[in-house]
Amino acid sequence: MAPPLLLRHPSSREHDTGTHPERPARIVAVERALAERDWLGWDVRESPAAEREVVCAVHPEAYVDSVEAVSAAGGGALDADTVMSEGSYRAALHAAGGAAALVDALLDGDGPRVGASLHRPPGHHALPTRAMGFCLFNNVAVAARRALDRWGAERVLILDWDVHHGNGTNDIFHRDPTVLYVSIHESPLYPGTGPAGDAGSGPGEGYTVNLPVPAGSGDAVWCSLVEHVVAPLGLEYRPGLLLISAGFDAHVRDPLAGCRVTREGYAQMAASMRTLGEELDVPVGVVLEGGYDLVALAESTVVTLEVLGAEHPEDRPPVALHPHATQAAGRLAERWPLVGVVAT
Ligand SMILES: [Zn+2]
Repeated sequence: MAPPLLLRHPSSREHDTGTHPERPARIVAVERALAERDWLGWDVRESPAAEREVVCAVHPEAYVDSVEAVSAAGGGALDADTVMSEGSYRAALHAAGGAAALVDALLDGDGPRVGASLHRPPGHHALPTRAMGFCLFNNVAVAARRALDRWGAERVLILDWDVHHGNGTNDIFHRDPTVLYVSIHESPLYPGTGPAGDAGSGPGEGYTVNLPVPAGSGDAVWCSLVEHVVAPLGLEYRPGLLLISAGFDAHVRDPLAGCRVTREGYAQMAASMRTLGEELDVPVGVVLEGGYDLVALAESTVVTLEVLGAEHPEDRPPVALHPHATQAAGRLAERWPLVGVVAT
């Protein structure tokens, strides 16, 4: 079987945000930690720049033109916390292109079963026509669309474990039952969206699952939600691809949020997703989002990839059912009976 695939590109360092938490040092730290471990034996490739049509499956052409124009003019601020430099458009094209290339590899019959697209800028706050929250193009949405449009996947599950709600991804697939968007996020926190009651709309009603958690939540809450809510959701939904919108800012060291997840917590969440992928016999792709403490970001990324890519799964103790997961399962029981079992 092909080794896991890691997509990266030097342009991620050319997206110059000045004195900003979403800074080039993030990708430097991640790549250094992986290089020290011989890239975990993964197949490391440079991501292609996304073709226009790939980005335009999510964002209208006029928006893509406007982002390109800001870089061409030397940079500028798109909103209060989203800034661009001359190199930002190119970096964003490779971030989206990496996410799409990841899906191409994972869904191409003989390809790897696990992969990661590690770039900046991140993407999950980006709306179709608006940059937001350090994000220009919505990379994980580009990946999901690629799976549906190019590879004929009937359903894709996105687990967004970034500590912030992925409002962009939430909105892009709000009316779409072919993408089950599941987000665990601290609430209240930026961007203020993603209450438990926001469950999608129209034909997509029920296919958005928001799992807000209070500040201070650590491994017990986060791991229980992944193991006891997200995994049964996946078994019931039966997607053809699992994507993890993987921010690492729920880490206890992160300066932008108040959750308390540890390296071991990320290892456990990755293990639950690995098992889900094996049970469904579908590939798992990781798309990097946030994470602003360099040590936490690097060690959490490494352990996530280690667990997902290991030839044999490690033995782990069962994940305790936390009352927060029981409550969430209870809310979802009517539409998702398999999830509801957890609450009974
Ligand atoms: Zn975040």
